[in-house]
Amino acid sequence: MREVGLSEDEVLRELAEIRGRDLPYDRFFSTMCTRPHHIAVQAHNLFLETNLGDPGLFPGVAELEQRAVGMIGEMLGCPDAVGYISTGGTESNIQAARAARNACGIEGANIVVPQSAHFSFDKIGDLLCLEVRKAPLDSQMRVDMGAVRRLVDDRTVAIVGIAGTTEFGQVDPIEELAALARSKGIFLHVDAAFGGFVLPFLGGFNWDFRVDGVSSITVDPHKMGLSVIPAGGLLFRSADAMRGLETETHYLTVSRQVSLTGTRAGSAAAATYAVMNHMGRDGYTRSVQYCMGLTKHLLERSAEIGVRPVIEPVMNVVALAVKDAPAVRSGLMELGWHVSMTREPRALRIILMPHMTKENIDLFVRDLDQVLRSLGQ
Ligand code: PLP
Repeated sequence: MREVGLSEDEVLRELAEIRGRDLPYDRFFSTMCTRPHHIAVQAHNLFLETNLGDPGLFPGVAELEQRAVGMIGEMLGCPDAVGYISTGGTESNIQAARAARNACGIEGANIVVPQSAHFSFDKIGDLLCLEVRKAPLDSQMRVDMGAVRRLVDDRTVAIVGIAGTTEFGQVDPIEELAALARSKGIFLHVDAAFGGFVLPFLGGFNWDFRVDGVSSITVDPHKMGLSVIPAGGLLFRSADAMRGLETETHYLTVSRQVSLTGTRAGSAAAATYAVMNHMGRDGYTRSVQYCMGLTKHLLERSAEIGVRPVIEPVMNVVALAVKDAPAVRSGLMELGWHVSMTREPRALRIILMPHMTKENIDLFVRDLDQVLRSLGQ
């Protein structure tokens, strides 16, 4: 550290220069994050110094968090749901598994997740000393129900289903998973980190708290909810289901805490409340329709150069089947496009977020065609 600090101007000049090294969103096809809505940014800045870890000191932002949870609960079919604004999908998944484990109190417990589960479930196995059993997928990249039934045993404390998988955007058969969880008297957690702010505005799926047996849902406002990073959401159907997360706090304004982190950003909750209130159902429906329009456009353009998706996309996530996906991806990266890959089968993974445009999709497909030709495909 310097003995004598720089002036504010000098610090800001350096920051501006270094910020310029970050890459621009309009070339990102690989991320489930996007530019936050400007009203979320304003709310974030207004509540920057608030700490939801000690809510008695900040009753204003604590009220906003409860209102945000209420709105998300209503969106997911349960206005009385309880929960909190977490740091993102990883924390929410960890906490849901922890709640299930603590509620059951079984030694050597396990959870059954789809093979497509986000890598946060590998962290869960490590952190919570839970065995994480992975069920294979069917040809449409949904979890295979027969496999789930075979993996569940008397030490299973939770089943996990995904509504919007990270790689294919697929939705697991949540009603069937819920029936199984009900018959065993165990938790069903739905990871809708991505799909939580997509599916309610698309329709066509029965996957949220309207399905009897869904105990908890991960839903990330910082993804398709257009809030700021870090704004995640974890909701439980009832206060009972969340009880396993309570820890006594001896020096704060509240006697119990359910969150994983202690000190936590009130600004994320305020931003989520602000953007949800501003967008309304109508605004989110238009945003999702825009992204689905981009998805259709990408499919049409890529079909013109002979490239097809691995599965018919359900939401704004597309896996494009190409030979030697790692080489194609490298070629695209050299041309400045950021795409990622699915694991099995290896394909180009493309997320159509609100920051993308049809014009950039056209440029991308032109470059994809060039890369494929250069590789002799
Ligand atoms: N769950 C799913 C389905 C995801 O797609 C992701 C991230 O993309 C996560 C969980 C983890 O979310 P985060 O990166 O906010 O921790």
